[in-house]
Amino acid sequence: MADVLRGLGVSAGAAAGPALRMGRVPRLPAPRTVTDQAAERAAARDALDQVGRELAERATRAADPAARAILEAQALIAKDPMLAESCDGAIGAGLDAAHAVHTAFTEQADGLRAAGGYLAERAADLEDLRDRAVAWLLGEPMPGIPDPGRPFVLIAEDLAPADTATLDPRRVLGLVTARGGPTSHTAILARALGLPAVVACQEALTIEDGTLIHIDGDTGAVTLRVTADRVAQIAADAARSRAETFTGPGRTADGHRVPLLLNIGSADDLPADAAADVEGVGLLRTELLFLGRHDAPGLDEQREAYTRVFRALPGRRVVLRTLDAGADKPLPFLSLADEPNPALGIRGLRTSRTRPEVLDTQLAAVAEAAAAADADVWVMAPMVSTAREAADFAARVRAHGLSKVGAMIEVPAAALRAAQILDHVDFLSIGTNDLGQYTMAADRQCGELADLLDPWQPALLDLIASCARAGKAAGKPVGVCGEAASDPWLACVLVGLGISSLSMSRAAVARVGSQLSMHTFDDCARLAETALAAADAITARAAVMAASSLFRATGGFPSPVDGF
Ligand code: PEP
Ligand code: MG
Repeated sequence: MADVLRGLGVSAGAAAGPALRMGRVPRLPAPRTVTDQAAERAAARDALDQVGRELAERATRAADPAARAILEAQALIAKDPMLAESCDGAIGAGLDAAHAVHTAFTEQADGLRAAGGYLAERAADLEDLRDRAVAWLLGEPMPGIPDPGRPFVLIAEDLAPADTATLDPRRVLGLVTARGGPTSHTAILARALGLPAVVACQEALTIEDGTLIHIDGDTGAVTLRVTADRVAQIAADAARSRAETFTGPGRTADGHRVPLLLNIGSADDLPADAAADVEGVGLLRTELLFLGRHDAPGLDEQREAYTRVFRALPGRRVVLRTLDAGADKPLPFLSLADEPNPALGIRGLRTSRTRPEVLDTQLAAVAEAAAAADADVWVMAPMVSTAREAADFAARVRAHGLSKVGAMIEVPAAALRAAQILDHVDFLSIGTNDLGQYTMAADRQCGELADLLDPWQPALLDLIASCARAGKAAGKPVGVCGEAASDPWLACVLVGLGISSLSMSRAAVARVGSQLSMHTFDDCARLAETALAAADAITARAAVMAASSLFRATGGFPSPVDGF
C-alpha cells in the first residue's frame, strides 16, 4: 500500500496516532441446533441487558445533553419487555439466541418502517440495538465507535447521525472515512468538534488497526506508518495551535471587520457566557425544535425557545432562519406528499405555500420573543428561488413588526438574481451546502460525489462572487452560513470576494479568526482571484494555500492580534 493515501480534507488541522477501525455490523453464522431453549432465552436476555447497561453507562459519560438523551432512549428500548418476549417467541420456534434476537428486532424495525413518518425514523435505532446484542452473543466487538480507553484516529466507512452521540472527542484525535463529502454528517460533526478530518479516502478501510498515521485535514493527505516521534511532535503542535487563543472580533490583519457568527440549533449550543464570547448568531436552525415530533410546537413553546437565545445575546445579531423542513429533514405534521425528488420538491420556504399558518405562528413567536429581549433580531427564509418569493416573505415578516428580513441563497436561480432579490430584502445569507448541491446537481448526502460537492468548486465560487457584487452595489450585507465558512483558507477567499460575515460552528471560530487575522483585505482579494482563476477545486485550494504561505513568509501583513 502507498505511504500516503488521498482524500478530501473537510475539517482543518493535523492529527496523528494509532488508527482504529469502526466496529462492523456482525455477520450471523449458520443457525445452531438448539438443545436447551431455557439457556438460549437466558442468553438473549443477558445480551439485551448487557447492551442496555452499556448504553446507559455511555449516557452518563456523554458531555452533550442531546447525545445523552439519545443514548438514554436507546438504553430504555433495550429493556423493553415486549422485545424480550418477541425473542422468547423466536426461540420457542426453534431459533438459537443470536438468530432469535436478529429476527425479533428485524421484524419490529420492518414494522416501524412500514408505518412511515416519525416511526420509520426509529427503525434504525432498533437495528443498531439488534447488531449490538448479536455482536455480544457472538463474542464480537461492539459495532460502532470503539472505546479502547486511549486516543486514536477513527477509520470508518462513513459516520451516521447516531454515531455523533457516541463519539468522544477526548479519545478520537481525528477522522478518516472512505465515503462522505464536505457536507456529510462526518464533515459537519468533525467541524463542530474541531477534529481534523479527511473524507472520501477510498482506501481508508485497508489501513490496519494500530498503524501510526498522520492526517492532514487541510490537504486531505493520510500518511501511513509515521514514527512515534513524529506522532509526538504533531500532538505537541496540535496542542499548541489549540492553545493559540484567538480573541475576536473577526477582522483581517488591517482591521477590515468580518463578524464571525455561530451556527446553532438552540440556546443549548451557546457557551455559558455567550454575551462575552460570541459576536452573534448567523444561523439559528429553528427546525431542530420541530424535528422528531408529531405536531408543530405551539406559539408559547416557540416564543420561549427563541427568547432564551435572544436573551443570551443582548445587543448582538441573531439571524433566525424560519422552518427549513422537507427533503433530508422530513416533518410528519406537514403531511408533505411522497415526492420522487424531495430535494427538488416542497421544502424550505416552499412548505408555506400549503401550510402558511405554520410560518405565521413562527413569525408571531419570533416577534414576541424579539420584543422580550434586546438582541438585534434578523429573520431569513431558506430555499428562496425567486425575487417574488423574497418579496412575499419580506412582507409577511414585516407585517409581524420585524424589521430586518433576509433571504438565503441556496438555489442557483436565486444566486443569479441576487440583485433583484436584494430589491426586497435587507440582507442575503449564502447556504453553500445546498447551493453547492444544486449548482453541481450532486446530492449533498452522496459521498461518491464528494469531489463535486467540494466548496472550492469554481462554479460555486463564481455564484458567491456574483452575490457579493450584488450586495456591494445595493449597499447590503451578504454573509455565508454554509460549511464553506468554516474552512480557514476558504474563509479568507470569501472575504476577498466581498462576503461581509461568516457563520460557522463554535469550534471553527478560532481557526478561521486566526487565519483571517493573518491576511490583509488585499491579501484576501488576491487569494480570491487565485481561487477564481483555478481550473478546479483541488488546484484552487492548493494555489490559495501556497499563495497564503507566501504572503505570510514575505511578511506582507501586520501582527495578527494588533489592536484588539
Ligand atoms: C446550507 O444549505 O448551506 C445551510 C446552511 O443550510 P442547511 O445545511 O441547514 O441546509
Ligand atoms: Mg440549506
